[in-house]
This record gives sequence, structure tokens and C-alpha cells, in this order.
Amino acid sequence: MSSSRVLVLNSGSSSVKYQLLDMSDSSRLAVGLVERIGEETSRLRHTPLATGASREWTGPIADHEAALKAVAEELAKDGLGLDSPELAAIGHRVVHGGKHFTEPTVIDDAVLAEIERLIPVAPLHNPANLTGIRTARHLRPDLPQVAVFDTAFHTTMPESAARYAIDTETADAHRIRRYGFHGTSHAYVSRAAAELLGRAPEEVNVIVLHLGNGASASAVRGGKCVDTSMGLTPLEGLVMGTRSGDLDPAVIFHLARVGGMSIDEIDTLLNKKSGLIGLCGDNDMREIRRRIDDGDERAQLAFDIYIHRLKKYIGAYYAVLGRVDAVVFTAGVGENAAPVREAAVAGLEGLGLAVDGALNAARSDEPRLVSPEYARVKVAVVPTDEELEIATQTYALVGRH
Ligand code: ADP
Repeated sequence: MSSSRVLVLNSGSSSVKYQLLDMSDSSRLAVGLVERIGEETSRLRHTPLATGASREWTGPIADHEAALKAVAEELAKDGLGLDSPELAAIGHRVVHGGKHFTEPTVIDDAVLAEIERLIPVAPLHNPANLTGIRTARHLRPDLPQVAVFDTAFHTTMPESAARYAIDTETADAHRIRRYGFHGTSHAYVSRAAAELLGRAPEEVNVIVLHLGNGASASAVRGGKCVDTSMGLTPLEGLVMGTRSGDLDPAVIFHLARVGGMSIDEIDTLLNKKSGLIGLCGDNDMREIRRRIDDGDERAQLAFDIYIHRLKKYIGAYYAVLGRVDAVVFTAGVGENAAPVREAAVAGLEGLGLAVDGALNAARSDEPRLVSPEYARVKVAVVPTDEELEIATQTYALVGRH
């Protein structure tokens, strides 16, 4: 029997998201989520795609090992158990791969040690990713496990884009540089955009705008990332749901010296209480649009700040690339919020950019162009699929045996 299934695991500090895919036709067999791990009210939601009928379970799940065992049991009920010979590999999303990991990597002890060494630059994410990997290895020690890094796609950035203009020795001593994140999505979407344009990825230059709760932009030349908006951490760049994105670093000194805030308080302020939620009290773009329709000025200002930043990055990456074939919107906001796409591109006709009102307003789950025929630079919407990309990269590395 050929092994063509890949289990994709995205392990957070208190959650595990998973998808089981069959790579013979890239179809999904099951999807699910375990939340609130370590609490009395942990919740598992499992959906086998054959029936589409979700099963939910609430109760205490002590740790990631128990969570993964519960997932394995659910999969087994559908005849998709982790002990199946059809399972080729497990693909893990790992947030930070530093400079070292430029490609998906089969996990061994040395790889685990390197991911662990990166914890100081990804204290929130890498420990949870490591727990997921260790647990999966424990359950299926014989099975290839692959790490797919959020940073990998950005390792092609030239030093001129990746380095901050700070003292080189200090930067190197603390591994301070711009790493970028959402790389799996930027890779998938930039490739799919080239396909939509009917051209090879090597031939096209695109600006990808991944606008979810977290948000990042990237400039991709001929399939390779040459700049991205997130930096050492996912805090830099665009205005996000709860993160500030770019600001004068002196704001931090000011808050500490004049505002009397601790470093941890400032960290929480900028990561959790800023961005759209800090500006208007809501981080969901649907709610913000609803409030704008009701004449809410705070919501309107939050939207305007969000759009202003987005536009600045479109302009900046246009300049970085020199020639742009398409601006591509993806993720929750990018795929669904027509007003965001319209406003971000408004006034950029001089750069060859325009959206067509009707095309932009039409809803679809498919990759599509929303620019008018005459636009020199196409505007596209491409739904992202990070799990499929992780499974594809994992299978390319270990499959077909
Ligand atoms: P993440 O993976 O970063 O949590 P997603 O890519 O799923 O985020 O995006 C989530 C966000 O997408 C929500 O916070 C919401 O602002 C936005 N969103 C989802 N659906 C819509 C919609 N129909 N219209 C506008 N915004 C939407």
C-alpha cells in the first residue's frame, strides 16, 4: 500500500490544530482543533471530511501528549488512525527557524536542539511547537517528522533588507535581524498568483498582503522573497488586529521613563492591546465595517490608519521590486474584506493599480483577479492554505516511498 497521507500539526501553547491530507490528490481527510489544553474545559472538535459531521468533546485534557492521543483516537474512529501504513509523515508548523533553516527539514535530535536554541527569539511560539514535535515523535517514533518553518521563505532576503541599522556586533551577538513570518502563506500565495497570471513563478514579481489577525506584506521577485514587513518578531510592519506594527522605538523608552511602564507591560500593550483593538476596541474587520456603516468615527479612524500603513507598504515594495505584476490579497481580511482591498489600492492608478468594483465585491473561494482589464498591475485575491503547503513540502521531502 502506498503511503500518501500527511498529518499537519500546528501546536500552540494551549492548542493543537491539525489536518490530515491525502497527497495523492491533495484532498483533506479530516480537520480538527484541541483548545484550552491544561484546563478543565478543554475542547476537541474533529471533522472527518468523508461525512462532514463534526464531533465535539469537552473535558480535561492535561497536556499536548493527551491532546494528541485524543486526536489519534478520533482519527482511528474514522479508519484514519496514526498507526495506519498509509500515513507517510507528520508535518509540523514551526514559527521560528532563524537563519539556519532555509528549507523544510526532517526532524532529528540535532534539529530539535537547534529549534530549542532559537527560543530566545521566539519565546511564545517555539516552545509550543517543540512540545508538539516531541509528543508526535513519542507516539510514532518510526515515522518521519518534518519541520516547516514560518521564516524559511524569507531567508532569501538580501542583507540590505534583513539587517537593522544598529551596531553590527550587538546585533550579531543577540541574533537580531529581520526574519519575517507567515512565510508558508507568502510562498503558497505568491506561487498561486503566478499560476493565476498564467506565468512561471520565476517570471513574476508580486506584492503579497497577508491580512489576517496578524498581518504581513512581502515583496517577491521571481518566486523569491526580497523583503517582508515582519522583523525579529511578528510585531513589526502593518497595523494588525492587536499589534501596533511599525512605530518609533523611542515610544518604548518614553512609556518606560515617562509612563512608568515595565518592559512586560509595554510588550503586552504593543502585542495584545494595540493595532485595531487599541485604536477602536474591535479587532474584527467585520465589526469595524459595521460600526463605520453606523457612522462610528473611532472605527473609521482605525480603518484609515490600517489602510494608510498598507498603502505605504504597497508603495515601498513597488519601489523595492521596480516592476510589479500583481498585488495579491490573502488571509481572513484580505480574502473577505472588499472595502479594504478597494481602499488600499484607491489613488494608485498612477502606479498602474486599480480594482474593478463588481469583481472586487463578488464573493468566491477561488483565486481570482479583481482588477479591470486595463490595469497594468493586476490586483488578485488568492485564498491561502498553509496546511496544504506544509503537507506539500513535507510530502515532497519524505513521500513517494
Ligand atoms: P489568523 O489566522 O491570523 O487568526 P485569519 O486569517 O483567519 O486570522 O483572519 C481572521 C480575521 O479575518 C478576523 O479577525 C476578521 O477581522 C477577518 N475576517 C474574516 N472574515 C471576514 C469578512 N467576511 N469580512 C471582513 N473581515 C473578515
